[in-house]
Amino acid sequence: MSRLTRRTILTTGAFAAGTLLTRDPTFAQTPLAATPECHDHPAATVRQTEGPFFKPSSPEQTDLFEPGMAGQPLELVGFVLTRGCKAVPGALLDFWQADNAGTYDNSGFRLRGHQFADTEGRFRLRTIVPAVYDGRTRHIHVKVQAPNKPILTTQLYFPNEPQNANDFLFRPDLLIAIGDAQSAGRFDFVLKLG
Ligand code: FE
Repeated sequence: MSRLTRRTILTTGAFAAGTLLTRDPTFAQTPLAATPECHDHPAATVRQTEGPFFKPSSPEQTDLFEPGMAGQPLELVGFVLTRGCKAVPGALLDFWQADNAGTYDNSGFRLRGHQFADTEGRFRLRTIVPAVYDGRTRHIHVKVQAPNKPILTTQLYFPNEPQNANDFLFRPDLLIAIGDAQSAGRFDFVLKLG
């Protein structure tokens, strides 16, 4: 895998977001802005608590959205990268989140799913924007793991949320970049490997 320069990131970022977006009218049609830059050693994505609602053995699925599901549809795309800005093909991403009522499915696997980054280290998740619950601001849980490497557990947040300021776990470096359409988001994970 060649080293990804800033120019490469800009180019492939725009390409990836554009091609990863679906034609389903429920979701955004317009590409997201690309990652502004990828430094030689970007900060690793910070670790956060797993919380009480993780369930192992989620189904492999990129599409958590189900017909008739309440909530704002969201397509989240991005890269899994190393601190040297190299893509991590085949990285495991396991997402879980609350529904539009702020409830986790603890008996089944609704709004839970894992997937593997493609050969360019890209992922795509179709879901809904989760509701707030129990004093927590809006967030999506995720575990990310490069093949045969330790698991990074963290949470992603949404911009312009009034409750971000009062959330005990919120961090601005875990904010999803939301597109103009409000239904397209971008987040690149940076793994500290080796
Ligand atoms: Fe949670």
